[in-house]
Amino acid sequence: MRFIWLILSFFALSSLAVAQKTQTIKRGNLTLNFTVRDTAFNPALQERLIETFFKVYPQLRKDFNPLADSTVNFVIDSAYTGVAATGGGRVVYNPDWFRKHPGDIDVVTHEVMHIVQNYGRSGGPGWLTEGIADYVRFKYGVDNPGANWSLTPFKETQSYTNSYRITARFLEWLETHGNKGLVRKLDASLRSHTFTPEIWKTETGKTLDELWSGYSANPAL
Ligand SMILES: [Zn+2]
Repeated sequence: MRFIWLILSFFALSSLAVAQKTQTIKRGNLTLNFTVRDTAFNPALQERLIETFFKVYPQLRKDFNPLADSTVNFVIDSAYTGVAATGGGRVVYNPDWFRKHPGDIDVVTHEVMHIVQNYGRSGGPGWLTEGIADYVRFKYGVDNPGANWSLTPFKETQSYTNSYRITARFLEWLETHGNKGLVRKLDASLRSHTFTPEIWKTETGKTLDELWSGYSANPAL
């Protein structure tokens, strides 16, 4: 889920000698290298992951970043204990997560958005990076109801820095309350490293805290 994880965990895991096989799938201008390091991995799930990738990733590239990697690597790794982690055009998935949550296919949507984001060492806040990825899952997900996944209902105790679905709901509210296209602008500024906290005021006429106050006062979507 977080970029940092990838860098740390990947080098650690790659030193383990685990039997693996890689399948390469090409469709249009996209290539998916799919590596399985898990003796019990279900081929039907592999097929769903592949189909979800080829449905969602072209849309995300088109809508957010046409220059995003055209080659992506998926690694199913039984030695990885998080849910999933992304960086450098590679997503590592924990097969146990899917065994326990077989409907949660839009983990793919969230993770491949991180490839599209490609913010590198941006000065932007991590909560916004994750909020945008979950906003995208909400908008582009192929089966969020099947995972019983939805935006977190508003509560007074929340903050925009809570990240993930809480931030995603705030972004959706902003988009539907006079700021259509804001997420794309935020995403572009983070990628080009031009993001500053002033962007909220520049794009909406209000500061981030003013926007959150407006959301808190009337959080209905
Ligand atoms: Zn994430």
